[in-house]
Amino acid sequence: MIKIITYMKIVTDFLEKKLGKTVTREQAEEAVKVLLAWAGENPKREGLIDTPKRVIKAFEEYFSGYSKDPYKDLERTFGDVEGYDDVVVQKNISVHSHCEHHMAPIIGVAHVAYVPNEKVVGLSKLARVVEIYSRRLQTQERLTMEIANTIHKGLKAHGCAVMIDATHMCMTARGIKKHEATTITNFFTGSFKDNHNLQNRFLTFCNKQ
Ligand SMILES: [Zn+2]
Repeated sequence: MIKIITYMKIVTDFLEKKLGKTVTREQAEEAVKVLLAWAGENPKREGLIDTPKRVIKAFEEYFSGYSKDPYKDLERTFGDVEGYDDVVVQKNISVHSHCEHHMAPIIGVAHVAYVPNEKVVGLSKLARVVEIYSRRLQTQERLTMEIANTIHKGLKAHGCAVMIDATHMCMTARGIKKHEATTITNFFTGSFKDNHNLQNRFLTFCNKQ
């Protein structure tokens, strides 16, 4: 039994090294135990025995965006759109992120638009770009910019617009506890940048129920 455990440890250590991780899963779970004890809990209490494992598993999902390249999702485009050259808008893409200052959840929606340059992309791919950047520690401002810049460059689009409307748990559940506060950020690239008409069309689309 001990031999198997030692072997498994060698394998997981090797895989983690290969992935460029300097902290092992075991160390990460230990860190959760330290936080539990610091909060006044007994990490050995029955209900908490598997909590460090679960927390690290959840972290893998919350921060899965670090190991993914959003440009890959934009590689496959379609050219047979028979000259469609107007705005494509995708609304209400859910955002689940974490703020980099408190590691507290940021929950909201993103509205994304682009003006295609001969080629369009599958609609699910816009949501994928939102997902990949959301699954990292973020500020809402940077998240908004990264999504817009990536779609702009990845699709060589004429322009891109992104609006995010989100609630920050670090504001609603702690600190100044403003339960109703939401934050709106907006970022325009290319043809959206100086074209107020295009900007207004995007904002009208966003505000339509
Ligand atoms: Zn915060």
